[in-house]
Amino acid sequence: MSKLRAAARSGRGLRQGAGEVRKSPRRCRENVSSHKGMLPPVSAYHLFSHLAEIEAFRKNLLAWYDKCKRDLPWRKLAASESDTNRRAYAVWVSEIMLQQTQVAMVIDYYNRWMQKWPTLQALAKASLEDVNELWAGLGYYSRGKRLQEAAQKVVSELAGQMPATAEELQRLLPGVGRYTAGAIASISYGQATGVVDGNVIRVLCRVRCIGAESSSPAVTDRLWDLANALVDPARPGDFNQAMMELGATVCTPRAPLCMECPVKPHCRARCRVEKELEFASKRLLGKAASSCSQAPDIEECATAGSCSLCPPATEPWDSSLGVANFPRRAAKKQPRAERTATCVLERRGPRGEPEYLIVQRPSSGLLAGLWEFPSLALGPGLKEKEKQQREALLAHVQAWAGEAVARGRLRHVGEVGHVFSHIHQTYVVYSLLLGGDPEAASGGRDEELERPAFRWVTQAEFQKSAVSTAMKKVWKACERQSCEERGPGQGCKRKRGTDPSRAGQQKRGADPSRAGQRKVEADGSLPPRQLSLDAFLKAPAGE
Ligand code: SF4
Ligand code: ZN
Repeated sequence: MSKLRAAARSGRGLRQGAGEVRKSPRRCRENVSSHKGMLPPVSAYHLFSHLAEIEAFRKNLLAWYDKCKRDLPWRKLAASESDTNRRAYAVWVSEIMLQQTQVAMVIDYYNRWMQKWPTLQALAKASLEDVNELWAGLGYYSRGKRLQEAAQKVVSELAGQMPATAEELQRLLPGVGRYTAGAIASISYGQATGVVDGNVIRVLCRVRCIGAESSSPAVTDRLWDLANALVDPARPGDFNQAMMELGATVCTPRAPLCMECPVKPHCRARCRVEKELEFASKRLLGKAASSCSQAPDIEECATAGSCSLCPPATEPWDSSLGVANFPRRAAKKQPRAERTATCVLERRGPRGEPEYLIVQRPSSGLLAGLWEFPSLALGPGLKEKEKQQREALLAHVQAWAGEAVARGRLRHVGEVGHVFSHIHQTYVVYSLLLGGDPEAASGGRDEELERPAFRWVTQAEFQKSAVSTAMKKVWKACERQSCEERGPGQGCKRKRGTDPSRAGQQKRGADPSRAGQRKVEADGSLPPRQLSLDAFLKAPAGE
């Protein structure tokens, strides 16, 4: 969308030809009005002012939804569950998971979550570690934590009863905003309240040609007003889901399927496009010139120029964008670039199996409470200086190493990029295999194993731990390089996308008794054959 916006700003697209006289647009003749008297007056061009049109909109949309809606597990639960609390919980979980995440990705997480914690009470009793583990890979990790905290609140402070209205849901439950509260209340309780999410914003901005910045408070208020005016009191949950479904599957950001759209007759953006197309084809046939028409007869806002919902004068309608002229968003802030050195630290476990150190992140902030390989943010002084990076990282991991480690044994694996919502993070990945006595590494002693801040895990345990997607990428980078170094015919047949943990199990299964026999030599040299990631992690001679 940002490219489209840039194109709009640059004025790319259909332009009026030289010497063309633009005919005055047909202004919306309906009264300028305001919903409920709460907001400043706005042209009826941006509103639904007639009940007959609202009813037709609802009817068309719901008929389409009944026919085309996707079969999703939370919809099944909401339709079949008779207990109000359970129903609200089922919808709540889905709505939290769906924030910022695609439906296709959520389905599997949702099914596993509901199987593990089918009720509020079950979730309230879960450990945060379990919640993080199940959430791992879904992103925006604080959502899972807040969901669990809110479930605990319902159980401990509200006698296990979900708040009964959208207003109470929003007021009483942490992490439940206006949208989530409206979704739970309309879908679970049948409360006639609208919802406004990204999909609904897109649909509403297009059907009513709202071109002012869609995240501005003035526009947001108007959109909520519109959603509340449109919602069908007889089927509010279905109506809201239908609006979101329409935005997700038909009125998509870049390639809307207007020809298949059930609300096309009510869509002012589409109407404008059709008028332009009609005019263009008439011109081609020479008909427009004969009727002296110099521009398409397009209905526009009566207060354009001073309207708070029309596009700014600096960003007029761009015919090349069609309906994608709407919605307009503020230019996204570029994520800031950060670099972090991370070390895959390996030792031999009590039975000789490879183990890797993971450390828990602080309980607040980015990726709160998740586990990661020991990592060190690289400040300005360390960003480009590899020698200093190595020294700083070694000093950082020394506490867990339990032995003096020469800088040369720290092996550079490569770089891994990961974009968080506001940070473009680059992990500079190193690996380090600890040699000698398996118990030598700090954390190998029993009393230290119980310390919550770090733990040693096998490869399989790492895959199941509450680690972020970024750390799984780091792991894969090590795996990939291991394969590349061994080359063809050296036992690495893993194809892109296969599960490295399975590959590791197969390798370990080939000869488990040998796993603990390989040790780093005092000079850091490698044994002659390397068959697994743990072997790869050993530093080569002379490094
Ligand atoms: Fe969206 Fe096109 Fe439907 Fe309008 S007609 S709501 S732009 S899909
Ligand atoms: Zn306007």
